[in-house]
Amino acid sequence: MTAKIIDGIAVAAEIRRECRERVQRIVARSGTPPGLAVILVGSEPASQVYVRNKIRACADVGIRSCRFDFARETDPEIVIDKIEDLNRDASIHGILIQLPLPPSFDIARILHTISADKDVDGFHLYNVGGLVVGGTVFPPCTPYGVLKLLEHEQIPLEGKNVVVVGASNIVGKPMALMLMQHEATVSICHAKTRDLAQFTILADILVVAAGRPNLILPQMVRTGAVVIDVGINRLADGKLVGDVDFDGVAEKASYITPVPGGVGPMTVSMLLVNTIASCDRWQQRAPIPRSMIARTPIAAK
Ligand code: NAP
Repeated sequence: MTAKIIDGIAVAAEIRRECRERVQRIVARSGTPPGLAVILVGSEPASQVYVRNKIRACADVGIRSCRFDFARETDPEIVIDKIEDLNRDASIHGILIQLPLPPSFDIARILHTISADKDVDGFHLYNVGGLVVGGTVFPPCTPYGVLKLLEHEQIPLEGKNVVVVGASNIVGKPMALMLMQHEATVSICHAKTRDLAQFTILADILVVAAGRPNLILPQMVRTGAVVIDVGINRLADGKLVGDVDFDGVAEKASYITPVPGGVGPMTVSMLLVNTIASCDRWQQRAPIPRSMIARTPIAAK
């Protein structure tokens, strides 16, 4: 079997086209575009690239973005004050803090200062809790992008054995919860999992987000499985790879995402989707329904 390669660049571009149209409709209706504020603390090169890409993506679809840069040594209270200003700013519909933050910052406190109504990264406790009990307003962008790819390929989730390798707060855990909401049977593996292969071999759908190149080898994958590689690793020679032995696993899988060009482009597109959805909600004066019980909206617009 040779896997179909899922083209994340094409799917992400399709979503951006839809975003552009939605922004045009918002501007025609209200005269103002959606607004996203991006906060960067420090000058880590990878974070600089991610922030630049997000700002560019906003410009590409007509979202107004503003960027706030703080030196690594900045007093965290100054950043908290800025977030509180942005929470009150009616022209801003989404606020994101580029992670990681310097060690002097209490990440949880910073993330929870962002208003749940503007938390387009989906990291606020309200949104995280929504993943558990339903009613999520902003699905976290990377797992949301993975769901969109699966939806685009018309890969059913209901009743499927899905194994998620990686249990971080930003990828693995929300991914597992979102898959559960779509009625998959989900196993979560992490660095302390004994005999990883014993789990991965059972997966109809395998989602890997560990940050370990070549963690998943062909013998760990069931013939015909769908393999989604979230990992991004830079090798010593500068090459960018995922967590999956792409060439070997592609011989066994039915679908596989490449790195680069798979999940990565989706993450930024889903940030745009969340920002536009937030603007719609604010302009229609529809505050977050605090008691809403619903499934994570796989196709939320
Ligand atoms: P993270 O916070 O470092 O978490 C890594 C997770 O993988 C942890 O749960 C860890 O287990 C687990 N893990 C590590 N080594 C393992 C092993 N040998 N076997 C099984 N599990 C193992 O990383 P993250 O932020 O979730 O990111 C994961 C990867 O996805 C990274 O490569 C990152 O660059 C990439 N990423 C990509 C996108 C995108 O848009 N494509 C977005 C975000 C992240 P413990 O919990 O036991 O430590």
